[in-house]
Amino acid sequence: NKQIIFRDYVSGFPRESDLNLTTTTIDLRLPEGSTSVLVKNLYLSCDPYMRICMGKPDPLSSSLVPPYKTGVPIIGLGVSKVIDSGHPDYKKGDLLWGLVGWEEYSVITLTHYSHFKIQHTDVPLSYYTGLLGMPGMTAYAGFYEICSPKKGETVFVSAASGAVGQLVGQFAKLMGCYVVGSAGSKEKVDLLKTKFGFDDAFNYKEEKDFSAALRRYFPEGIDIYFENVGGKMLDAVLINMRLHGRVAVCGMISQYNLEDPEGVHNLPTILYKRIQLQGFGVCDFYDKYSKFLDFVLPYIREGKIRYVEDIAEGFESGPSALLGLFEGKNVGKQLFVVARE
Ligand code: NDP
Repeated sequence: NKQIIFRDYVSGFPRESDLNLTTTTIDLRLPEGSTSVLVKNLYLSCDPYMRICMGKPDPLSSSLVPPYKTGVPIIGLGVSKVIDSGHPDYKKGDLLWGLVGWEEYSVITLTHYSHFKIQHTDVPLSYYTGLLGMPGMTAYAGFYEICSPKKGETVFVSAASGAVGQLVGQFAKLMGCYVVGSAGSKEKVDLLKTKFGFDDAFNYKEEKDFSAALRRYFPEGIDIYFENVGGKMLDAVLINMRLHGRVAVCGMISQYNLEDPEGVHNLPTILYKRIQLQGFGVCDFYDKYSKFLDFVLPYIREGKIRYVEDIAEGFESGPSALLGLFEGKNVGKQLFVVARE
């Protein structure tokens, strides 16, 4: 059983040497009387929040995501196949997505919303790490529940070509909003405009003054900001928000590797413009997962929602695929294949 072990807590940018590849043996049958489920992991997901789990345990971030334990496989989301089950809801051959160790086989204990049985297999299985999994639910809950969007409103999405952002933009278009995204390369900006139907997009790495860039696309201001990056972008957005605008604070990836978070100078704007700024965790919305599937599956089947994945091949590719997120190497949802069946 190949495993990727978390070596020690990280400060600054994570390195591949923070994760060790090892091999152990595993019994491919559960002991008599076990209520666990033994799975073979097929697709493992690389997600930015994993960097927060790699940091020194901190009560503040632990309330959203728990820190990793050292010396054992890191935990992430994945799509898996049941090999043996002592749990009444799962039988051999069933597919599920949820929390598993970064290893070829895992013994999992099912807790509330830790895993979801996969019922629809007419779509790519890998989608359950992205569009039909945690990032999809994040885009859905963040946009519809937190942003309270209305037809005709102006929407800005940062890290817009990623796992979450590409969906937020498409949801905003379905709602009849005007939507602009930012991303870190020409290729990603082109994707936003041609594949995902954003009204416009820009490469933030080519902008010296984020506020001036935002004024170019939003001369009347921004009603909704879907925040994925934090730092200077958030500061520039605040001053460009409209009265009673809403900011869904989904993530702040530009800050995860910094020892001291960058200051936000325009915070008082929240008061003057009566902006609603709300942090949220997808974990609080999993009760809406079946409603989300009912909503999104028809759009996928009709080709009205599109999804781009960045799929690395092989178990060994996991660490570099994960680290690539923090350099913007991924184009679309990053995951890696452990086994195809
Ligand atoms: P992505 O697929 O968007 O991958 C991360 C992307 O972030 C990179 O490709 C890169 O794109 C961008 N990025 C990396 N470093 C920086 C930086 N310093 N400044 C600006 N952009 C940067 O990730 P996800 O869609 O999975 O996640 C997006 C955000 O949503 C993250 O902040 C994540 O933590 C958050 N999240 C929050 C959840 C919640 O429950 N609140 C759940 C899921 C995700 P580029 O080339 O454009 O720079």
